[in-house]
Amino acid sequence: MKIILSQRIDISSTYNDIPFQTYHFPKEYLNKINTGDAFIYYQGNKSKKQHRYYFGVGIIGKIEPDIDGIHYYAEILEGIKFKENIPIYDQINTGYIEDRGFEGKRKQPDWQNSIRKISDEAFSEILRLSHVDQNQLSIDIEEPRSPLETLKKLNAKLYDTPPSERNAKVQNFIDRGTAVTRALKEILGAKCQICGWHGFTKKSKKSIDESFIEAHHLDQIANQNIGSLCSDNIILLCPNCHREIHYGKYIRIIDHGKSFEIGLSNKIAVIEKNTIEYLEKLKFKLIEK
Ligand SMILES: [Zn+2]
Ligand SMILES: [Zn+2]
Repeated sequence: MKIILSQRIDISSTYNDIPFQTYHFPKEYLNKINTGDAFIYYQGNKSKKQHRYYFGVGIIGKIEPDIDGIHYYAEILEGIKFKENIPIYDQINTGYIEDRGFEGKRKQPDWQNSIRKISDEAFSEILRLSHVDQNQLSIDIEEPRSPLETLKKLNAKLYDTPPSERNAKVQNFIDRGTAVTRALKEILGAKCQICGWHGFTKKSKKSIDESFIEAHHLDQIANQNIGSLCSDNIILLCPNCHREIHYGKYIRIIDHGKSFEIGLSNKIAVIEKNTIEYLEKLKFKLIEK
């Protein structure tokens, strides 16, 4: 299905959204959004007409409940920001692009809803105007991808995405798990890379059990360095080692190029960087066993 996601970017939203990373929405909308949906970002504004436009496209990834019980998080995959904002009103054909392709019972899209269906026709028209090639988007997201393939794609994209849109507010969410962390966890297992602690199984309504482990970015996101969102900058840690690495007095981190040497107050570990090259080798080793 194709949908519109309303996302304010002219003001900072009260939701824990990270445009092109995460969409935070109230429970009421849960039946309007599904994993695999292709979406277009819509910047709405009730009072200023010139602040209404479309600004990006992407695919909905995993949808997970927020701990508050009344909101959900939708992961954003393959987000592409339009080079220019697309006005919602088409001057040449004099009409709202979103009105197109609505036939039968419903003559109009439900404009007032933050998440709403958009016709294939309107979707394609917005992409055409934005000069985004539809083939750039893999609308075949339902096809199961291996975590390694997912990581390859994400790393390639994240390598030149500066994490500049992120702010302190979202730091918690990052450690709770992004697509990169999740894929990494699937490959490495939920095990602390410093002390070997095994993550416990999380309480979940889902059919597949998930284990708890935290992700730490060695080059901190806050430094906003290019590439710091990639898997080779991330290590999986237990809550204790993670707290110590952030707040401990006796921390030593040496970058050896292909590995990190990390010393905490009472332990030391040499950890291979989680590069695709390393993870691929690891996969090979696992198969051999
Ligand atoms: Zn640990
Ligand atoms: Zn951390």
